[in-house]
Amino acid sequence: MLDDFKSSQKIVYQMFQNAGKIQKFSHAYLIDANHYPRKLEFAIAIAKFILCPNHYTNDEKCNGCSQCQRIDDANFTELKIISPDGSWIKKEQLEDLQKQFSTKAIESKNKIYIINEAEKMNASAANSILKFLEEPEPGIIAILITDNMYQLLDTIISRCQVISLAKINQSDLTSNKSQITTVEKIGFFIAKTGDEYQKFVQDEEKRNQIDCVVQFVKELENQQEAAILKENKLWTSVFNDKEKMDFGLEVMALLYKDMIHHKIGLEIDFMDDYIDILNDLSKKNTVKQLCDKIEMIIELKNHLKVNANQNLLLDQLILSFQEVCV
Ligand SMILES: [Zn+2]
Repeated sequence: MLDDFKSSQKIVYQMFQNAGKIQKFSHAYLIDANHYPRKLEFAIAIAKFILCPNHYTNDEKCNGCSQCQRIDDANFTELKIISPDGSWIKKEQLEDLQKQFSTKAIESKNKIYIINEAEKMNASAANSILKFLEEPEPGIIAILITDNMYQLLDTIISRCQVISLAKINQSDLTSNKSQITTVEKIGFFIAKTGDEYQKFVQDEEKRNQIDCVVQFVKELENQQEAAILKENKLWTSVFNDKEKMDFGLEVMALLYKDMIHHKIGLEIDFMDDYIDILNDLSKKNTVKQLCDKIEMIIELKNHLKVNANQNLLLDQLILSFQEVCV
């Protein structure tokens, strides 16, 4: 429902309200999504707003008419959503669409197709859609979504009304706005696209990895050199390849950053779920020590990029941390 975006996408929301009042819609919209995680949901809300017969005939929200219901169930023939098939959107997918949309709309005044991740159209798909956009049939509306507008052909961009979404704010990410978890916050920080974000927060392994980093740092901060072996084992069993190690170090840097925030009375950015541990650990270090450690972690991340031995790097980190502690 478009009203769900009333506060997070104020400008675009108002634009559609106005278009709805005079029932004048563009034949093609290009959503420049700015990594907004709910971009597809937003596009569907626009489609619903246009297709539902109750949405702009009165000021009341539609209370679930049969069109809206079937759109929710992905069972409405006049709305078609195209997403990449593998890494690309292929020409055949668009040809199917054009075939399906060649007959007149029966269920509604309009037909709408949404192309999600439109930058993934391969060259022949892009040309095929271009023709479709060049000769717009009355009643057919296109909604293209992209996070990388400049990967699209200029000729496609110029045929669409471009809608730039406002950058995300964290409260958009979860339905339970009062409680955003550490995993969600880190996912928000790391993910480059909404899909990546969704994948991240649903990945049980990520949760374990974050737990493991916190546990590791706790051990590291509490123990002496003798514990290196144990710590090393704990870490390498979970972060057993370069990519995972890089993620672990990233989380570790965020943890130390939050320790600084906590220590100087600023709001914690990520680690609210581990507030007790954070509290203990920040007491063990001065701000200067915490800054030094963050620098070491970042340095290690850079070494990791140039193919250094992971285990040696970890030993190096542990040892240099001990020096900072003294
Ligand atoms: Zn409705």
